[in-house]
Amino acid sequence: MRIRSDITLHRRAELVLFRVDECTYLVELRFWSVILVTVQIDRIRLVTVPVELSAPLRTSDGIHKSREATLIEITDSQGYVGWGENVAPTGVHYVGESHQDSVQTMRDQFIPLLVSREVAVEEMDRNGWWGTEAFNFAKHALESAVWDLHARKENTSLKNILGGQLDSIVVGVVVGMSDTIDEVVAECVQRRNEGYRRIKIKISPGHDIEVVRQVRAVLGDEYLLQVDANGAYTVEHIEHLNQLDAFNVQFIEQPFAHDDIDSHIALARQGRVRVCMDESISSRKDLEQMLDLGACSVVNIKPSRVGGIGEAVAMHNIVRARGVDAWVGGMLETGIGRASCLAVASLPGFTMTPDLSASRRYFARDITDPFEMHDGEIRVPKGPGIGVVPAPDILASDAIRIETVFER
Ligand code: MG
Repeated sequence: MRIRSDITLHRRAELVLFRVDECTYLVELRFWSVILVTVQIDRIRLVTVPVELSAPLRTSDGIHKSREATLIEITDSQGYVGWGENVAPTGVHYVGESHQDSVQTMRDQFIPLLVSREVAVEEMDRNGWWGTEAFNFAKHALESAVWDLHARKENTSLKNILGGQLDSIVVGVVVGMSDTIDEVVAECVQRRNEGYRRIKIKISPGHDIEVVRQVRAVLGDEYLLQVDANGAYTVEHIEHLNQLDAFNVQFIEQPFAHDDIDSHIALARQGRVRVCMDESISSRKDLEQMLDLGACSVVNIKPSRVGGIGEAVAMHNIVRARGVDAWVGGMLETGIGRASCLAVASLPGFTMTPDLSASRRYFARDITDPFEMHDGEIRVPKGPGIGVVPAPDILASDAIRIETVFER
């Protein structure tokens, strides 16, 4: 028997013609066949934009007054353009990846890999696609630009492609550390009056219980309040941290170092304050492991930290299936990164308020049209792709640097 394989599959094709000897057969497939749409990349540019924060943000790893936004612009052979953003923090090593190292890795390692392949974005989250487990921020920056391009080609929003359900999202805001408790309290009141319905306070040893006590006193018992330690505590602080239970704190985020799993398990098992993990979970493998160990009952999923939108969606599917509370964290993204985070945050398994505040919370002027908050909510962009692009006058500004890294 000879079988000729002149079979054309269309996206979601159900019928296939094939020929055996002189007879033609029409066969109904019993499964859905999906051909992955591939992207052929013609040009990649790195666009570096200096942005001033609207107010300094002090966390346990330093004071942040400004940052350099690194945008990635990918153009395909049909002229479609996708935008991504590398949000690896400037000046600090965040779980081993500084902004400088991250951008260099994109330029020297990942972009040559990307342009050597026909790219199907759905495959990019697979283990091994990038050839390394490191440099998640760099992977995410490029992958998110391909997602934007992919959705624009399909003429639909990233939210729709990912299966997002919310058109508008209740968002939270982070209040950093200050020199005095009064300053923290004043900022919390200001943010609540701006319309935020949830506040997360940064804490560290010496700047914790009394701060939370005073903030809770002015915000009232029902207001949603969380704390984030960015790994500033050690196992000796467990009893101290349990005092937070008296102030109806929704959870404590990343109390211990990212690799101090035993202390997280110890705190989580005492059951008085819920434990959320951020820096400890960088992949779906980490996620499954931490949940199996009982190290946390809430998860902060940042698409940039976990290496891409695809990985974030896969992790969302895990927490949803296991009934675990989760939310989308932010990394001081400009409008480019914020737009794609909002699309991810619109997925139904994200049960808690994300750290995705309005543009004015972060920047004197955003790179895109600003994201505004109304009644405590921000709308998820509806336009094709991520629904926003950098403002033309910003792209034309003398202050930015544009580097063509690849051109076919
Ligand atoms: Mg955090």
